[in-house]
Amino acid sequence: MGLIFEIENLKKSFGDNLVLKDINFNVESGEVVSIIGSSGSGKSTLLRCINLLEEPGGGKIKFHGEDILEKDSSINKYRTKVGMVFQSFNLFNNMSVLENCVIGQIKVLKRNREEAVTIAEEFLKKVGMYPFKDAKPKSLSGGQKQRVAIARSLSMSPEVLLFDEPTSALDPEMVSEVLKVMNDLANDGLTMIVVTHEMGFARDVSNRVLFMDKGVIAEDSEAKEFFKNPKTERAKEFLSKVL
Ligand code: ADP
Ligand code: MG
Repeated sequence: MGLIFEIENLKKSFGDNLVLKDINFNVESGEVVSIIGSSGSGKSTLLRCINLLEEPGGGKIKFHGEDILEKDSSINKYRTKVGMVFQSFNLFNNMSVLENCVIGQIKVLKRNREEAVTIAEEFLKKVGMYPFKDAKPKSLSGGQKQRVAIARSLSMSPEVLLFDEPTSALDPEMVSEVLKVMNDLANDGLTMIVVTHEMGFARDVSNRVLFMDKGVIAEDSEAKEFFKNPKTERAKEFLSKVL
């Protein structure tokens, strides 16, 4: 256990559109935190700021106590510790499934090929995609692609995985295979921050829910408590639409 993230007074604007207003929350090691809220409320921007895909306009992102927005912080090391899984998979289509999971380990982590292959195969087994290791992404279903993308992220030995609507691009019959993998990872104790429309996942798998509304965290609650007893009108309204 212990604190992994302390997000303090985080802000982000696009032009004069203030998209993240004053974001504050902590994440403990082993926690699964779901971020939910209406479209446009700033969920993706928040994840992208945490992952430094967007540059925050102010505030702090402390990772193990060190503010990664400070000039002298070790950003490259940080990036390897925080993995991201996207709605649209972002696999390399010209490479095999296995190679997708190997390449980053060699290029970024400087592992040798043999070790990288061993690690990649371990995680492909974990997500049930080992039998497809020589296939090209093009020949896979959306659910299979997303499971490969998860294996690829895990192969980089992240401390935290961020997910941005990992099941939103999938046909309905493929959602459950991806949620099952995520449920397994939660049970293994992996720290995860998950932007999701899957209210079942948010309620039953995550420990905590952050409800975002117009650029602020309107509620930060224990997951079951949030669904049983939302405190704000906005959350009640949101839940009445999605449940
Ligand atoms: P969510 O993921 O909750 O749907 P986003 O974080 O994608 O919300 O978007 C929040 C707001 O920021 C929206 O008003 C969106 O139009 C705006 N926004 C997001 N990304 C950009 C960008 N790259 N440039 C300009 N505006 C953006
Ligand atoms: Mg989004």
